[in-house]
Amino acid sequence: MSAQQEKDKYRIAVIAGDGIGPEVIEEARHMTEAAASLEGVSIEWMDYPFGAAYYLEKNEILPESALAEMGKADALLLGAIGSPQVKPGILERGILLKLRFVFDQYINLRPAKSLPNVPTPVPLGGKTMDSVVIRENTEDLYMGLGGIYGGGCENSFETSLDLERGGYSLRGKLSLSVSPDMPFAVQAALNTRHGVERITRYACRTAIGRGERDKERITIVTKSNAAPALYGFFEDTARSVIEEKYPSLKCEAVNVDALCYHLVRDPLAYGVLLCPNLFGDIVSDLQAGLAGGMGTAAGANIGDGLSMFEPVHGSAPDIAGTGHANPIAAILSGALLLRHLGLKKSADAVEKAVNKYLESSPKNELPFEFGGGFSCREVGGAILKRI
Ligand code: ATP
Repeated sequence: MSAQQEKDKYRIAVIAGDGIGPEVIEEARHMTEAAASLEGVSIEWMDYPFGAAYYLEKNEILPESALAEMGKADALLLGAIGSPQVKPGILERGILLKLRFVFDQYINLRPAKSLPNVPTPVPLGGKTMDSVVIRENTEDLYMGLGGIYGGGCENSFETSLDLERGGYSLRGKLSLSVSPDMPFAVQAALNTRHGVERITRYACRTAIGRGERDKERITIVTKSNAAPALYGFFEDTARSVIEEKYPSLKCEAVNVDALCYHLVRDPLAYGVLLCPNLFGDIVSDLQAGLAGGMGTAAGANIGDGLSMFEPVHGSAPDIAGTGHANPIAAILSGALLLRHLGLKKSADAVEKAVNKYLESSPKNELPFEFGGGFSCREVGGAILKRI
C-alpha cells in the first residue's frame, strides 16, 4: 500500500444509469479494478438501479434508504442520467442535483486535457491543452429558488426560501409583482462567503499542485460588470482568499464572455479556471469541446463526504445500444476516482494506458467518435490490455 492510501479494499457505489451509461461504466469498472490491483487494492462494487427505467417502473426516483447506504461507500461512480421517456429535469434534479446537495459536493472538477490522435476543432500547434475548470457546485443560479408567477398563474407572488446547505441554512421570503399583470419568471441566485471561500481554497491548492506555469496564476471567471452583487462578491471574496492565504499565486479576473472569446482563439491560454456554478457549467463544456469532445471529458463532484465521479457527457440516447459510445470519458473519470482515494499509481496507470492506446492504434481501431471502427467494448478491451 502507498503512504497516502488508507486501506486495501474500497467499496464503490455505482449508478450506471440511462442510455450509454451502462455501456461506458462497464468498461470504466474493468479498468478501475485492474489499475487498483496494481497497488494490491480490491474493489467491492455496490450497484444501484436508479435512472429512467427504475423511475418508470417503480415511480420512485432515489429513496432515502439508498442515500444513507451510499453515504457509507468510499466513492460513487455514475454513468449518465436522462431519457427521452421522462420529462427533462425530473431525474436530473431528483438524482444528480440531489446527490450533489445531500453530500455537499461543492467542487465540480473538470479537467480539459487534449489526448494523442484525438482531433481538436482548433489546432493546438502540436502542443497539449491542459487546463482545469474548478466550478462551485452548490450555489449561484442552481439553488432551485424561483418560479413562474403572474398573469393568472396558480402560484402566488410569494416564494418561501427554505434551504439547507452544508455549513448554513437559508430562510426567507421573496415577494414580487409586475404591473400590469403578466406572466414572469424569477430564479434567484446566491453566493455565500462560506461557499466562495472553500471553492477558492480548493482551486488554489490545485494550482499550486500543478506545473510551474499554473503556480504563477489562477483565473477567476466573473461577470462583475453586469451582475456586480452576485459576481462582484464572488470575485472580491475569491481574491481576498488568494491574497491572504496563497500570496505566491498571481490572480486575474476575466469576464466570462471575454474568456470564451480568448479560449476559442487560443485554447492553451488558461490553466486553472475558478468559476461560479453557472459559468463553470458553460465554460467546462466549451473546454471539453476544445480538448477533443464529449467522449473524453471526465468529471468529479467532490465534497468532504461521499464524492461522485462521472463523465461530462449525458445519456446520448441517439447512440445507446449501437456500440458507438466512447468509454474514454468514463474510464478517465475512474482515474479521477482512484486519485481521490489516494491511489496515485493506479490513476496514473489508467491515464497512461489511455494515452498508449490512442498513440499506438491504427485509425480503424479508434473509437467511432474519432472516425474509427472500434466499439465501446473493443475500446475498453484495447485500453485494458495496456494497463
Ligand atoms: P444531456 O442532455 O444529459 O447532456 P445528451 O446525451 O442529450 O445528454 P450530451 O451528452 O451532451 O447530450 O451528448 C451530445 C451528443 O454527443 C450525443 O447525442 C452523442 O451523439 C454525442 N456523445 C455524447 N457522449 C458520447 C460518447 N461517450 N461517445 C460518443 N458520442 C457521444
